[in-house]
Amino acid sequence: MQIIQGKTGWLEVICGPMFSGKSEELIRRIRRAQIARQRVQLFKPCIDDRYSQHEIVSHSQQRLPSTPVASSLDILDCVDDKTEVVGIDEAQFFDDGLADVCNKMANLGKRVIVAGLDMDYRGRPFEPMPRLMAIAEYVTKQLAICVLCGNPANHTQRLTDEQMKILVGAQGTYEARCRRCFEPPPPDDPPAAD
Ligand code: ADP
Ligand code: ZN
Repeated sequence: MQIIQGKTGWLEVICGPMFSGKSEELIRRIRRAQIARQRVQLFKPCIDDRYSQHEIVSHSQQRLPSTPVASSLDILDCVDDKTEVVGIDEAQFFDDGLADVCNKMANLGKRVIVAGLDMDYRGRPFEPMPRLMAIAEYVTKQLAICVLCGNPANHTQRLTDEQMKILVGAQGTYEARCRRCFEPPPPDDPPAAD
C-alpha cells in the first residue's frame, strides 16, 4: 500500500451572482486561517478598482489587504514559497491561465480559495470560473436575494444599456435577480466586446 505523506493542497471555489456574499465568505475563510497563524496571501485583478486597489472589500464593508495583479502568471511570481493559503477575489476578470496557476499552487501544497461570478450579465458562464469549478475539490454556490420578489437570486441584472462584457460595477449599475425576474439583454444585441 502506498502512503502519501506531507500536507496536500486543494482548490476551493466560491461562486454566485453579485451581492451573494462571495467576498464576505472569502474574507471569513481567510480570517480563520490567519487566526490559526497560517501564512496567507490575497490577490485581486488590477481591473477591479471599485473601492480600493490594495484591499478586498465586500458590499457590507468588510475588508482585507490584497495585492493587485495584472495577470494570472503575476500571481505565481508574487506568491511566496512559505504561503499556505492563497485567496483570489473577482476571479472572472482573470485570463484563461488562472486554472493552471491555481492547479500549480494546489500541487505545491497550498490551499487555494477562489471567489468570482459564475455568470455574466447575459446569464452565460463567465470564464475562467467554469474551468475552475470543474477542477476544484470544493465548490460553494452562493445566492443573493432577488430585489424584486425575494426569491433566491442567481443572476446579476445590469441596469444600464452598456454592452461590454466587463463593466466594473459602480453603485446602482447591477442588482441581484432570481431566474424569473432576470431580464437578459435582447438577443439581437451585437456580440459582447470583451
Ligand atoms: P459579492 O462578493 O458576492 O458581490 P459581498 O460579499 O461583497 O457579495 O456582499 C454581500 C452583502 O451584500 C450582503 O451581506 C448584504 O449586506 C449586501 N447585499 C446587497 N444587496 C443584496 C441582495 N439583494 N441580497 C443579499 N445581500 C445583499
Ligand atoms: Zn425575483
